[in-house]
Amino acid sequence: QWARVSEQLRSEIGEHNHKSWIEPLECVSLQAGVVQFRAPSRFVGDWVKRNYQDQIFQRMRSDNPTIARIEFNVGTQPPRKSAARAPEIATPRESNLQGAPLDGKFNFDNFVVGKPNELAHAAARRVADGGDVTFNPLFLYGGVGLGKTHLMHAIAWELQGKRPDLQVLYLSAEQFMYRFVQALRERQIMDFKNLFRSVDVLMVDDVQFIAGKDSTQEEFFHTFNALVDQNKQIVISADRAPGEIKELEDRISSRMQWGLVVDLHPTDYELRLGILQQKAALFTQTYGPVQIGDGVIEFLAHRITTNVRVLEGALQRLFAFSSLIGQEVTMDMVQDCLSDILRTSDRRVTVEEIQRKVAEHFNIRLSDMLGPKRTRTIARPRQIAMYLAKELTSRSLPEIGRRFGGRDHTTILHGVRKVAEMRDTDSQIAEDIDLLHRLLQS
Ligand code: ADP
Ligand code: MG
Repeated sequence: QWARVSEQLRSEIGEHNHKSWIEPLECVSLQAGVVQFRAPSRFVGDWVKRNYQDQIFQRMRSDNPTIARIEFNVGTQPPRKSAARAPEIATPRESNLQGAPLDGKFNFDNFVVGKPNELAHAAARRVADGGDVTFNPLFLYGGVGLGKTHLMHAIAWELQGKRPDLQVLYLSAEQFMYRFVQALRERQIMDFKNLFRSVDVLMVDDVQFIAGKDSTQEEFFHTFNALVDQNKQIVISADRAPGEIKELEDRISSRMQWGLVVDLHPTDYELRLGILQQKAALFTQTYGPVQIGDGVIEFLAHRITTNVRVLEGALQRLFAFSSLIGQEVTMDMVQDCLSDILRTSDRRVTVEEIQRKVAEHFNIRLSDMLGPKRTRTIARPRQIAMYLAKELTSRSLPEIGRRFGGRDHTTILHGVRKVAEMRDTDSQIAEDIDLLHRLLQS
């Protein structure tokens, strides 16, 4: 079975990754639903666990549904060179009140500040001063992987250092719910209430999770109010603005906006470059120095744009791989090692997709967009679609023309120019284009 699964994984994760991480694994036993793997070194074992465990598990399980778990052990072979260099990962200190463990790397020193996150960073810094409570709650929101959790941990670390007298509790909304349900079940709801009302700083991560969970959000609301009344600091994060979290009660969402609401904007190229440089320095501590070829960092910053976690994962993979084989990171290696990541972050828009979206947006028929009609209500959207096709795809003018019902490339060029002009003079058109741009790239 393992041979079969291993083959499936080869096409999923690419030849290079497969050779480095999957092939060295030995499937040693299956007992009582537990599959044991042996890895040649701790380094490989840890790596596989972090990056491929889920994939392996899902594949094994769809092959054999009795499998409940997979485990990785390290074989008897001596660890490879890079593993010997890797220092132990520091186990994070537990915070006082058994909140979620804090990641030692998520501190302010390791947080790179740029335009998109400077406000959130400044607000987090202010809270971490531990001085007067000036805005309460602090509500941080933004898309996945933009640094919300990092900032919250940083606040907790900083406060533990500066104000050891304060009880700081950090946990995810999910854990809040879990504890609440457990307290209900064990009839210890008074203990639960007392615990949460006795903290000085409460940080709840990913609060969108409790939206729609009625008794949990109710309890959270009471906790929240009790703490605010005592002038205790609260920090909350979510993946969107309070008002946009569906099924979050209005009174809760409006209460959350009493303090300061700041969002972490999507990263820009400059910030991504900064983050990559900083992570490269961190990874050097783990993997040793690694030569990185020209243009690699810029390429990554250019191509992996939505989620810092993915960006970081990509760089880490390159470090691990390069230190394993003892070679410089080249663009070839990037294409090989990161083919899966690059494929998904590489959302190529097609001309057809553009035509469909534009037609929908302007409420015209797709057949009219491609057909001969020249009335303004149809010709204008058609030209906008031509313009977007030129901007967002790598198609040539004749190729685009062919996809617009066999039009001549000069017609396309005319349309593209026309829209480019209007974009500068007509704010309504500029807005339409912006919106379509975003729709097409999400
Ligand atoms: P979120 O909680 O918003 O989904 P995280 O805080 O977990 O995102 O961040 C995802 C990863 O990206 C973490 O490893 C974090 O260290 C890193 N990261 C995000 N923003 C920054 C930044 N500005 N500087 C350094 N690392 C960052
Ligand atoms: Mg998070």
